[in-house]
Amino acid sequence: MEKGDVFIISAPSGSGKTTICRMLVQRLDNIELSISYTTRLRRKGEVEGRDYYFIEREKFDIMLDSREFLEYASVYGHLYGTSREAVRSIVSRGGDVILEIDVQGGRKVKGELPEAVMIAVFPPNRRSLEQRLIGRGRDSTEEVKARLRAADGESKELLEYDYLVVNDDLEAAVNRVEWIVRAARLRRERTRNRLAKLYHETGEVNHGESDR
Ligand code: 5GP
Repeated sequence: MEKGDVFIISAPSGSGKTTICRMLVQRLDNIELSISYTTRLRRKGEVEGRDYYFIEREKFDIMLDSREFLEYASVYGHLYGTSREAVRSIVSRGGDVILEIDVQGGRKVKGELPEAVMIAVFPPNRRSLEQRLIGRGRDSTEEVKARLRAADGESKELLEYDYLVVNDDLEAAVNRVEWIVRAARLRRERTRNRLAKLYHETGEVNHGESDR
């Protein structure tokens, strides 16, 4: 069985990355979102097990001690972590997985899984970031300010990612991320074995990527 790919998607909050990821998994087969664990409180409209697993600090510490996190980070004063087992299980059955995580987490995952594909999503300009953060009315003024400050700091690191996607138009941005996923599925590591087998068995080459 071919192993799936890990896609790290990071962005300043308010850049539209959650929407992009949701649309992506609807469009493509065989790709799913990793559900993170967090100690932050559930926001209105968020669903346990769909958006996050919302857990107490104590439970987070226990999971941390038993090395259950592939990576974890403190973001805006809350802890967030990615389940090592959930990612392993998806990838080992040939599925692709999207980790929607911050730059600290992205760095850690890339260190552990160098073949992971890093995608950074940017708002078209700072003003639209501000508008989106204020417009969704989710965060207090203080929190919006903190997120804007963090966005400035993060942007530098995001520029080091493998792929940079500007969300100037939602549909176009989803298309760009879709192309990146499709291209990753055609990478040498993923198609070489299949091709070698095909050549060996039939002497023919079949295109590695099905239209999914
Ligand atoms: P929010 O609280 O707005 O849902 O997320 C805040 C930030 O935490 C976002 O940048 C989000 O990508 C990041 N984040 C969510 N889950 C994880 C995770 O499991 N690990 C890390 N490192 N960051 C995460």
